[in-house]
Amino acid sequence: MKKIQMVDLQSQYRRFKTEIDAAIHEVLDSSAYINGPAVKGFQAALEEYLGAKAVIPCANGTDALQIALMALDLAPGDEVIVPSFTYVATAEVAALLRLSIVMVDVDPQTFNLRAEDVEAAITPQTKAIVPVHLFGQSCDMQPIIELAEKHQLYIVEDNAQAIGADYSFPNGEQKKTGLLGHIGCTSFYPSKNLGAYGDGGAIFTNDEALADKIRMIANHGQNRRYYHDRVGVNSRLDGIQAALLHVKLKALDEFSAARQKAADYYDAAFAELEEVQTPYRAPYSSHVFHQYTLLVPADQRDALQAHLQAAEVPCMIYYPLPLHEQAAFEGFARKAKAELPNTEMLCQQVISLPMHSELEADQLVYVAEQVKAFFKK
Ligand SMILES: *Cc1c(COP(=O)(O)O)cnc(C)c1O
Repeated sequence: MKKIQMVDLQSQYRRFKTEIDAAIHEVLDSSAYINGPAVKGFQAALEEYLGAKAVIPCANGTDALQIALMALDLAPGDEVIVPSFTYVATAEVAALLRLSIVMVDVDPQTFNLRAEDVEAAITPQTKAIVPVHLFGQSCDMQPIIELAEKHQLYIVEDNAQAIGADYSFPNGEQKKTGLLGHIGCTSFYPSKNLGAYGDGGAIFTNDEALADKIRMIANHGQNRRYYHDRVGVNSRLDGIQAALLHVKLKALDEFSAARQKAADYYDAAFAELEEVQTPYRAPYSSHVFHQYTLLVPADQRDALQAHLQAAEVPCMIYYPLPLHEQAAFEGFARKAKAELPNTEMLCQQVISLPMHSELEADQLVYVAEQVKAFFKK
């Protein structure tokens, strides 16, 4: 059996080596490293894949979120609603812009933001909602969109973990996550579902005016070279990353299918375990399984982790500490409620198993056996 990894980037590279190497060499031969045809080509392919009017590539997912918030022209102290159970970047960028972060609890089943919790957190200062499609499954967006319309709020989706997922509206219409609100943000960090061989990110929108602003902000606030109309940043995806991402984008749906197949195997294998709750599959979203995350009893979670590590099954705790308990946000953030019990519970009970597009049958069998062996002791 091949050594099991959380994410097996090497096996995936080997599978696409010929095409990827050729794409990278084309960039090297052309020496168009910045803003060249490789970047334009990938951008256009991603626009087509997502059904987006505009994709603006940038340097990483955190920049994507920051640039998206900058494009909303918010004032210091304006409130931005974020889930407390997420990666730090979601809130970090709001703190950098001196916005006021309002952290709300999440649904214990989907781990995602819920409209009712968002609604309870809205004040006259609220300007934007940042739903995170955590672990690869969309938030239930229709009620969140309705709230945003009612209160005239922007929606910036953190789609770093869910690229390729589809959300189904109640009327049956389907859209890709990241295009459900005003602006969507994603990351091409190597271990993400569409991963580069370095850093990368992108911003999506169907709003042409926002797209123009975002392009300008990502490029030092200029439309015309050396004429700077606003303060921007320097955030670019380079040609080499774009070229290999273009190759991988063609296989993204295949990667998602392989992840879903691995998840189906895990689901069936753990169905008999009373102590284990397998990931909930929401009827309104496909699940692209950025992570396969179990809930296990809090008092057994660390022992399970140690058991798996001893058996050479990698596993991770995403995330051990809620945002509202992170020292960094003291002074910038407030909790929407006195208690965020679901977030607290999740931080105690989650454990993520190896999940990627290259998992082999014998590896899945072994991981499942090790988890089952722990609970049958
Ligand atoms: C990875 C990630 C980011 C940040 O992406 P980087 O490319 O690492 O900056 C933001 N939000 C979420 C939910 C992520 O998983």
